[in-house]
Amino acid sequence: MPANAKPLQDYYDVIVIGAGIGGLTTAALCAARGKSVLVLEQHYLPGGSAQTFPHKQYRFDVGPKLFFGMDATRGNMRYHQQVFDEIGEYPELSHYDSYYTFRHPRGCLRVAGSTEEYVEQLVAAFPADEWGIREFYAQLEELHRMFVGMPNLPLDDPAALLRLVWRVPLDRLLAINYWANRSLGDLFDRYIASRELRAIINAEFVAFCYSDIDNAPAILAALVLIERHKGGGSFTKGGSGELARLLIRGLEKHGGQLHYRASVRRVCISNGVAHGVELNDGRIIHATHVVSNAGVVNTFGRVGTEVKPLVEEQWLRPATLEKVDRMTFTDSFFTIFAGVDERVFPPGTDPHTLYIDDYYQSTDDLRMICFCNSSFKDKGLAPPGKHALQIIYFDPEFCRYADWQRDANYESRKQAAFTRAMAMAEQVFPGISAGLDYVTCGTPLTYEDYLAKWGGGWGAQMTIDQFAFKRFQHKTDVRNLLLVGADTHPGIGVVSVTMSGINCAYHIVRPSER
Ligand SMILES: Cc1cc2nc3c(=O)[nH]c(=O)nc-3n(C[C@H](O)[C@H](O)[C@H](O)COP(=O)(O)OP(=O)(O)OC[C@H]3O[C@@H](n4cnc5c(N)ncnc54)[C@H](O)[C@@H]3O)c2cc1C
Repeated sequence: MPANAKPLQDYYDVIVIGAGIGGLTTAALCAARGKSVLVLEQHYLPGGSAQTFPHKQYRFDVGPKLFFGMDATRGNMRYHQQVFDEIGEYPELSHYDSYYTFRHPRGCLRVAGSTEEYVEQLVAAFPADEWGIREFYAQLEELHRMFVGMPNLPLDDPAALLRLVWRVPLDRLLAINYWANRSLGDLFDRYIASRELRAIINAEFVAFCYSDIDNAPAILAALVLIERHKGGGSFTKGGSGELARLLIRGLEKHGGQLHYRASVRRVCISNGVAHGVELNDGRIIHATHVVSNAGVVNTFGRVGTEVKPLVEEQWLRPATLEKVDRMTFTDSFFTIFAGVDERVFPPGTDPHTLYIDDYYQSTDDLRMICFCNSSFKDKGLAPPGKHALQIIYFDPEFCRYADWQRDANYESRKQAAFTRAMAMAEQVFPGISAGLDYVTCGTPLTYEDYLAKWGGGWGAQMTIDQFAFKRFQHKTDVRNLLLVGADTHPGIGVVSVTMSGINCAYHIVRPSER
């Protein structure tokens, strides 16, 4: 368990609340640009959703295992690379041959290889829609090209926006805006008739992209559906928590500091200007800039009365609170972290398998299971002969935060979810229950406890209504208080919060100002 190396000072240029990837990216960049930086993290491990926790001889990833854009030699996204270059730290990576396998009652789709290879797989499975599939993917390729050609700039900086208008041709900006306001479902329906393929893509989006096909912005969907075929998916050796450790090395190398088990109770504000934070133990630390990586509900409050926000209501405009009230958030998860005998997995099993038994269910009823096996790529994450699995069970009955309470029924509800999940797991990997060596389960309340995040989910959904300018940006109603992370533009996902961190740091100190 990491210890706090240095005592806290009274003042820093920048205080970041939360050591999620967005917060750490902002912190490491500000430190590399010469600012004195303190990160305050309530937990004893860094990374937030992207942490890896040890248990017995296993190391389990809590959240992400598929990273985009980590390796400058693969894929089209350079955001991580920009951060690595600036802080002078680089990850050790392995790459996936296959992104994942999607199993369903009629067969299996392997999300692997080039876009062309994947299109051939789809055409073979849905021959009646051959023309439509090819046209649909041609459109996605075009949208993907547009998106990755855009510079990553803060949308709440007028000068940056002017530069964007100056650098990007008007017709491209208009096309991006058009497809940011149309759903993937709209695009799909222009070309493809198969309801079955629509249901498959819908399930993929619910599982991996935080929105269903009718609400996911087409431009974002294009990025997800195409980038995975450009060799962009990587995995950090040692587990996903290694990215946080790399950012901390960068932070500390440049004189910054991270303090664990330091829960921030409130942002100190006078005359509408943030000037520090108060910790749960009453200590006050001053700063010129305060950055919250704690999510919009924890920062501004309002969804549930149980949330005691970091910012008192008097400092917020009614429009900000109404915006929080209007926001929709993803459900949380029921996850089984399991040590499993390696003999359960037939040779050739992909590191990730998504299984759905009935994809014609409505999105609200969709039941899926996802097996994420980091130790397929990194044997060091499990003892010999075993694998460390994160089994995410998507079941509306067990993933809704509001349905869980720590009452007398909590343990029996957890057991019921486990039994139901394992029954589904048996359909994919027969014998998995007998092969269990170690098990611990996470409910929405576990996620809320460890991530200190209201709702315990991914955050604000990635829907058309909450995309780009309609999402929260970095600047807030309080001067010198900034937001960063999954609830801000561009949204959920490790690469997205990295982009958010880059843009948040830009508001505090620009690279050229060093
Ligand atoms: C199960 C799961 C699977 C995922 N899979 C993928 C994937 O495959 N690929 C991908 O790209 N993304 C994936 N994601 C999403 C991705 O991990 C997140 O979007 C991203 O890591 C969120 O980063 P963040 O900067 O918003 O911070 P968060 O991860 O939300 O971290 C916030 C931090 O702030 C701390 N904090 C909160 N309040 C306080 C306070 N008051 N005082 C001090 N500290 C505080 C918390 O403890 C936490 O450490 C997954 C997420 C989950 C949960």
